[in-house]
Amino acid sequence: MSESGSSQQSRSLFQRRENQAPETSGGYGTSVIDRDDRRTVGEALLEDPRISCRSVNVWYDKTHAIQNVTLDMGCNQVLAMIGPSGCGKSTFLRCLNRMNDTIAACRVDGQILLDDMDILGPQVDVVSLRARVGMVFQKPNPFPKSIYDNVAYGPRIHGLVRGRMEEDELVESSLIKAGLWHEVKDRLDSPGTGLSGGQQQRLCIARAIAVSPEVILMDEPCSALDPIATAKVEELIDELRTQFTIVIVTHSMQQAARISQRTAFFHLGELIEVGETEQIFTMPSHPLTEDYITGRFG
Ligand code: ADP
Repeated sequence: MSESGSSQQSRSLFQRRENQAPETSGGYGTSVIDRDDRRTVGEALLEDPRISCRSVNVWYDKTHAIQNVTLDMGCNQVLAMIGPSGCGKSTFLRCLNRMNDTIAACRVDGQILLDDMDILGPQVDVVSLRARVGMVFQKPNPFPKSIYDNVAYGPRIHGLVRGRMEEDELVESSLIKAGLWHEVKDRLDSPGTGLSGGQQQRLCIARAIAVSPEVILMDEPCSALDPIATAKVEELIDELRTQFTIVIVTHSMQQAARISQRTAFFHLGELIEVGETEQIFTMPSHPLTEDYITGRFG
């Protein structure tokens, strides 16, 4: 989606929300759900999911950070996870490729199926899992290596390329998909850390897609970027969803509205509401979702 297209979409989403007649069934201010009802509202399950999470709980010592979350993620679509700071969005995202394993105090239970494999199972090889479920972090974190080696590193360690020619082709195609090739093709041997912040983030995306993941997780990938770099990354996310399942944590509701097809709203460790993005932003069903998207808390 073009930059102007995505901002138009977001404008129209918010406009419709403002113009929503208050008496419309299910529209603003007409929710029949009790504010204290903590059961998930909306379509948490999908017909043909890429990832199925069932009754996922996460604790950090005694802190119950994620409580009984059941949620599917669809193929070829972007799921945005929104909610106030500390509600558990990043914790839940990190469960999807076992990044929480690195935190000693953290305990996860429940079931998370990627296709038919329970990724929480003890037999799971987390290195292979993280190739299937890649991650892009808040702050771009290229390796202290050349642009070329940043992209080639994953395919090399996973044995995905044979010989220099195949490697060159994979580096080029990954950088093309990440929308970075034309900016870096004449300086592939320069350090990745020498690129601008936005370019570094697209390099990290190229690195993630070079190992042909099925799912890409993004934890506030634009929060360290300026508006122009943000627009480029958002445009890229929209292109990537044709090939990958994307799950993104964002603190920006405008961003969620621009780039996602489904939105999940979390509050105090619980999944309060999930549904099509347009519905969440125009006709939220739960009063807490409505409070959040209208800026009554944040
Ligand atoms: P969000 O991404 O929505 O801001 P987080 O997932 O970062 O929320 O945090 C959810 C809860 O888990 C918070 O209470 C936070 O303090 C706690 N938490 C997050 N990371 C850790 C950690 N490494 N150790 C202990 N507690 C943590």
